[in-house]
Amino acid sequence: MEFPLLVAPLLPVPHGFTVRAGGVSEGPFASLNLSVAVGDAPEAVERNYARLSRAVGVAPSAWRRVSQVHGDAVVRAPEWQGAEGLPPPCATADGVWTDTPGLVVGVLTADCVPVLLVDPDGRRVAAVHAGWKGTAARIAARAVEALVAQGARAERLLAATGPCIQRCCYEVGAELGARFEAAFGPGVAERTDPEHARLDLVEAVGRTLREAGLQDAHVQRLPHCTACDASRFFSHRRDAGRTGRHLSFARCDFA
Ligand SMILES: [Zn+2]
Repeated sequence: MEFPLLVAPLLPVPHGFTVRAGGVSEGPFASLNLSVAVGDAPEAVERNYARLSRAVGVAPSAWRRVSQVHGDAVVRAPEWQGAEGLPPPCATADGVWTDTPGLVVGVLTADCVPVLLVDPDGRRVAAVHAGWKGTAARIAARAVEALVAQGARAERLLAATGPCIQRCCYEVGAELGARFEAAFGPGVAERTDPEHARLDLVEAVGRTLREAGLQDAHVQRLPHCTACDASRFFSHRRDAGRTGRHLSFARCDFA
């Protein structure tokens, strides 16, 4: 059976957004949970990474992840270290990039917006985790800036957002909705009653990327909603916190 992964055809590098299927974890983590920090059995998570690594065709030592904290830091992934096996997170941050051929950068999510960025000129890739806090802090722009600081041209960058909690399911307090509208403009939030609003995080991330210089046609939005589809996706909100994490990743490997 082919390993189940979602992809964004716009991105010219090996990449993917994992779904629930394909792993060995059980219960609320069934089956491809890729986080050791959510209460799943560590051996199961390790086996899941081994399966994913085989499917993607990389050594476990190629993965570069970060300890995510809903901040706006974006770091460069460390080079090859020679160690075998899956390296621990390389830094406390919510974005990670590399220009080292063969390395794979990834972020974990279960409702938050995963963003992959590719610099086709500089042969660099980045992965970003944007929940509402990171989105409000414009972490996607911080990632663009990190690549531009290396010589990337923003108008040439390509980006994709993966499965996350979409507008259909993301109800927040009216105050947070108003804050997002003030920060990102009309349309990112919609008042549903006096106390609540629906928030469109992906739209806010998309506007952030365009403000940072990306072209409209260079940003692809996958439509999947993690909260809508319990058979395919983990959702932190729907599952009341007891659930797995998906990995969204891109490999520095240009044809
Ligand atoms: Zn939904």
